[in-house]
Amino acid sequence: TQSQHPLDLFDIDGLIGADDRDMRDTVRSFLAAEVRPHVPGWFEAASVPVRELAPRLGELGLLGMHLEGYGCAGTSATAYGLACAELEAVDSGVRSLVSVQGSLAMFAIWRFGSEEQKQEWLPRMAAGEVIGCFGLTEPDFGSNPAGMRTRARRDGEDWVLDGSKTWITNGSVADVAIVWARTDSSDGETVRGFVVPTSTAGFSAPEITGKLSLRASVTSELVLDGVRLPSSAMLPEARGLSGPLSCLSEARFGIIFGALGAARDALETTIAYTLDRDMFDKKLAGYQITQTKLADMTLELGKGMLLALHLGALKDAGTLRPEQVSLGKLNSCREAIAIARECRTLLGANGISGEYSPMRHANNLESVLTYEGTSEVHQLVIGQALTGLPAFR
Ligand code: FAD
Repeated sequence: TQSQHPLDLFDIDGLIGADDRDMRDTVRSFLAAEVRPHVPGWFEAASVPVRELAPRLGELGLLGMHLEGYGCAGTSATAYGLACAELEAVDSGVRSLVSVQGSLAMFAIWRFGSEEQKQEWLPRMAAGEVIGCFGLTEPDFGSNPAGMRTRARRDGEDWVLDGSKTWITNGSVADVAIVWARTDSSDGETVRGFVVPTSTAGFSAPEITGKLSLRASVTSELVLDGVRLPSSAMLPEARGLSGPLSCLSEARFGIIFGALGAARDALETTIAYTLDRDMFDKKLAGYQITQTKLADMTLELGKGMLLALHLGALKDAGTLRPEQVSLGKLNSCREAIAIARECRTLLGANGISGEYSPMRHANNLESVLTYEGTSEVHQLVIGQALTGLPAFR
């Protein structure tokens, strides 16, 4: 358990219930044995076996973990957060797979779908047999999804979708895409979500290559060229941007814990390294500069975890507000990337090798800093909550 953990000077473990600690330890052991050894290779090759990995994650109950019913584990939000920390301690790409599947694609169906849509998709998605993706971002509209150009027009009873999405996690491997599109006047010109089987004619999802970050994750464009869907493909309960934004709030919650998992792994790796590395006539860990860095990083990591657990408790109590999610997402991403970079310095040249995790984490966290609302956008959300003045435009 974490109480044996030299990093737990905050006694964080004492704040976590026994069941959640057991779950976390099970996830940690599974990942250590089955996933962690492969990650440097996946990152190097920019190729991750999502199809094989997803059913294993499904068996552990990690897909749609905090959702109730339809084959989902139905845990607390805090338990889900703790699992995200373990996943991201291995790699942000692995946590992204789980976040997109559970908090974006499955949550959209679970929260806004019809009973038939839930029955059709959720149990197989929870099992990891069916992979989902979530298409909101477009080439010209990321931070401002209200500008989206993807259109859904009525043709008789059907809907026909045209447009494109980009930077979509799991896109090329997905069986089903949740696509957000602007509807025509027949539907009051609003934003609606559609459940799109990726085998539908006119749908394609070319993979984005050449990423320097999140290489152990599939990222894709979605091209919708006259994609014809029955009227039953629309998510009936989502109308307007509040639909996709509430899904993003779910995924951001997981990132609050997840990013700190990456930072924890970078710090653990670095403490072990400095205890092993001889520098002049003693261990690198024995120098004051090293210890100053380690102390400051431990402090930020612990403060971040206290905030994460507090926000988890608010979410479990049903009172968590979006601007509070922004506080957590901003803090965790900002501090985690600073920690991963500082750790890298302590590893010297070895720090740039894929053999050690800190630089991989730092590179991954560049994506985590940007997706699910950039840090700047979360600062503006917090600024609006403080002043009442929206400064987005
Ligand atoms: P822009 O919106 O163009 O932002 C550029 C800069 O402008 C940023 O620094 C930003 O903070 C700043 N900025 C924006 N607005 C303001 C403002 N009002 N005032 C001042 N500065 C501002 N999207 C999905 O829909 N589904 C996915 O599965 C998904 N997965 C992703 C995976 C990866 C690896 C990455 C990198 C992205 C993913 N995204 C996904 C997209 C992601 O959500 C967007 O990248 C993000 O919303 C930012 O949009 P943008 O990239 O267009 O940047």
